[in-house]
Amino acid sequence: MTTELDPSTIVVHAGRPERVPNAPVNESPVFSSTYVAGGDRGYGRFGNDAWTALEETLGQLEGGRALTFASGMAAAAAVIDLVPVGGRVVAPQHAYSGVVALLEQYAETGRLTVEHVDVADTEAVKQVLNGADMLWIESPTNPAMEVADIPALAEAGHTAGATVVVDNTFATPLLQQPIRLGADVVMHSATKFIAGHSDVILGAVITADDDLWSAIELRRRSLGAIPGPMEAWLALRGLRTLALRLERAQSNAAFLAERLLEHPRVSRVRYPGLPDDPGHDLAAAQMSGFGAILAFELGGEAEAAQKVCECTELWVHATSLGGVESMLERRRRWAIEVPTIPEDLIRLSVGIEHPADLWADLEQALKNAF
Ligand SMILES: *Cc1c(COP(=O)(O)O)cnc(C)c1O
Repeated sequence: MTTELDPSTIVVHAGRPERVPNAPVNESPVFSSTYVAGGDRGYGRFGNDAWTALEETLGQLEGGRALTFASGMAAAAAVIDLVPVGGRVVAPQHAYSGVVALLEQYAETGRLTVEHVDVADTEAVKQVLNGADMLWIESPTNPAMEVADIPALAEAGHTAGATVVVDNTFATPLLQQPIRLGADVVMHSATKFIAGHSDVILGAVITADDDLWSAIELRRRSLGAIPGPMEAWLALRGLRTLALRLERAQSNAAFLAERLLEHPRVSRVRYPGLPDDPGHDLAAAQMSGFGAILAFELGGEAEAAQKVCECTELWVHATSLGGVESMLERRRRWAIEVPTIPEDLIRLSVGIEHPADLWADLEQALKNAF
């Protein structure tokens, strides 16, 4: 076939064994720590068929070559390790708390310096880019749901000589492809939407630059944060249905955002799909959908927000996101969450249940929390 396939077709068909008689339809996880000498595999830390199948699929989706890791944080750490000792990183003030904390630890030990900035404010980012070795972008951001102008920031980052990285976890490779928008490296917590069933911890990095790919691959084999074959196999199994899961989760999220907006207890809703959301126009320009995560606030009522999370019966009160089951949490319950995230902000990871059931449970929790 010569036509370019739609991502929803790629997730189903990429990373399969060659179609020859008797071939299996799926690649199997290979449970072996080493391989018989004479081939190119060598040792289990260097490669596994289950990784390769998942990497082929993610690479095709994002427009580059992928490397899978033991977790999203392992993937992020391997990428951050590209920064030279004493180098400078510009990162979002509201990036994923684990990434912010890692950068802070590195800054404290003198490994690098870091400047945090509002990535939704392109001019503010440009002002601090001078001399940066790496520009770390997350869009939409976790959990503030801010949207960064990826093409404009990638261009500005390159002008400053920085490697431009995008944490694409919230958007997924189906809704946003940062390499095609100008970024050098894409990072995923595949734990979330890619695996999609809250049963795997896994990370991935994708780049179209062969030198960057080799440098990151070297870090995977030397730092050793490799995925297990079973995890990679489960993540690919989950990825096969990403298009369908997202379709439902996303329409549920849009429905819930509208309902929350009308609720008297809710003071603010952040979802890029809402026409009045500050990130709406940018998201519409660079994403093919608005995703399944949203955040809302209760007008400063941290205690009530905590209670809402404890009062739901269907929604799971837990951290993490991107699974088939809807989850919610008050992010500031974590000590490492950035202090400029409001105390009463509740993040919703919308799943694939029936929208009426999801709303009935949220409405009930909002009533019982006050
Ligand atoms: C969860 C998450 C991570 C970290 O990934 P793990 O798989 O938990 O290590 C990084 N970035 C974002 C945006 C996340 O949501």
